[in-house]
Amino acid sequence: MREGIAAEPPRDCPLCPRLVAYRAENRAAHPDWWNGPAPSFGDPAARLLVVGLAPGRTGANRTGRPFTGDFAGVLLYETLIKTGFARGAYAARPDDGLQLVDCMISNAVRCAPPGNKPETAEEAACRPFLAARIAALPRLRVIVTLGDVARRNVVRALGGKASGSAGGHGARLQVGGYQLINSYHCSRLNTNTGRLTPAMFEAVFETAKALLG
Ligand code: SF4
Repeated sequence: MREGIAAEPPRDCPLCPRLVAYRAENRAAHPDWWNGPAPSFGDPAARLLVVGLAPGRTGANRTGRPFTGDFAGVLLYETLIKTGFARGAYAARPDDGLQLVDCMISNAVRCAPPGNKPETAEEAACRPFLAARIAALPRLRVIVTLGDVARRNVVRALGGKASGSAGGHGARLQVGGYQLINSYHCSRLNTNTGRLTPAMFEAVFETAKALLG
């Protein structure tokens, strides 16, 4: 991690021109939306970090809380509640009172990308924030990555070589002092096609719980 990088980027982070332009476009069209880097959400003493790819335009980019307001958030938050990593009820709003327990959620790329697809240069630009986010969690032990792109970014943020590690659902890897568990992303496509079932997703968090003891 470079010295002086904050765990959360500034609201008007200028580092990715394409994403800054998309942010400006969304601000003009929807001035009532968040339209900025989505801040990480959860317990600052978390031992579990969940890392997604990037905010959805009408999800975290709209509401300002990761995975809140889009399809993927329903399965994620319901699974976290079921496995004890969240309490309360998820109502798709940042003021729904939901609390994460021993858990934090962040994204590899903090700004919404067009078509939900960040470019490699944008992943690289945002990676120091991911590295700083990880480094700022003193009790962190387990990281669940949602999809292979998130997994590769976490491995690189930790100084590892992403190309040498196997991906796929349930893949586990030790990097530095952290246990990584990869999951298929809880996207509408993956859940509607049955590639990721609620049981498969729950099993990932049960594994995380078992690793935390
Ligand atoms: S994606 Fe990350 S690095 Fe790029 S503009 Fe947003 S906060 Fe900054």
